[in-house]
Amino acid sequence: VVATVAALSLSACGRADESASGETAGFEEGSAIGVALPQKTSENWVLAEGLFNDGLKEAGYEPQVQFANGGVSEQQNQISSMITNGVKVLVVGAIDGAQLGSQLQEAKDAGITVIAYDRLLTNTENVDYYVAYDNFQVGQLQGQALLDGMKANKPEGPWNIELFAGSPDDANAQVFFDGAMDVLKPEIEAGNLNVVSGQTEFNQAVTQGWKAENAQKRMDTLLSGSYGSEELDGVLSPNDTLARAILTSVAAAGKPVPVVTGQDSEVESVKSIMEGVQYSTINKDTRALVAHTIDMVKGLGAGEELEINDDESYENGVKVVPAYLLEPQIVTKDNAAEAYANDPTLAELVK
Ligand code: BGC
Repeated sequence: VVATVAALSLSACGRADESASGETAGFEEGSAIGVALPQKTSENWVLAEGLFNDGLKEAGYEPQVQFANGGVSEQQNQISSMITNGVKVLVVGAIDGAQLGSQLQEAKDAGITVIAYDRLLTNTENVDYYVAYDNFQVGQLQGQALLDGMKANKPEGPWNIELFAGSPDDANAQVFFDGAMDVLKPEIEAGNLNVVSGQTEFNQAVTQGWKAENAQKRMDTLLSGSYGSEELDGVLSPNDTLARAILTSVAAAGKPVPVVTGQDSEVESVKSIMEGVQYSTINKDTRALVAHTIDMVKGLGAGEELEINDDESYENGVKVVPAYLLEPQIVTKDNAAEAYANDPTLAELVK
């Protein structure tokens, strides 16, 4: 069970610069803070870069923010350099959350606090906190939106669907999929949904590297293999980048537009939703996530205890990582104006 933000309000000890007595000493203004971001697989990461740079500076710290477009080993090297540079906190959006074990051990040995940002760090003792939108809830909202959208198009089932998941090296991908299947599986079992290809397992649905071309290729194959005469009513897509790739594939095959879910509120997808093509996305405002992360950094700097609101959902293979989860919101054409009213880029698009 994933706890909601309001349900729990526990706290864990800040770990910055623990003294011999175990008290947290905090760190000085001007300290360096490392932010290791993954590849630019969606707009949220690109937005986060600017927000971390500006927000950390404004808070009086020296930001060191880096992308690792070259892959896992580049990210490992960047984190090692940040440690050498003397960062006090490491904020990590991992490419592969299981591949940073030795760097995180170095961080621990140097007394650095590690915050897993958006994506969990797995198989390591050396992660102090996790901050993200509630990933399981994202999946549940996607599953429900898929059902709602198909019912609106065609009130009587059964409906034909296909399932897509994210990249298996990103711990979020499985959680999104599990959340969606929490809603969809009972409907599949009841015969209300047919996955015509028969590919219902996570490892059959994955999209390596969260790459659009991989989703597009798989959709091409599914359409030619399973939808000669069958109609495709809906597709579970874990994010917007993949949703647009799936819709491109369907259009190229000359098929009617199915209900397709998404996530991230990317500009092109929000436009598509307003045009009645993509059905839904998820609002996970990057500004709020980065702002909360910077508040955590400030709290650590002041030697304070950090608030967490989930101490059970994120078992990383070694320990349960204390988490602060924000609440995601489903967005369709119906509530877009309200959902993005305060978004500097999107408000214009949904008027
Ligand atoms: C993030 C999603 C994003 C995906 C691909 C995930 O870890 O939670 O918001 O769509 O990565 O970048």
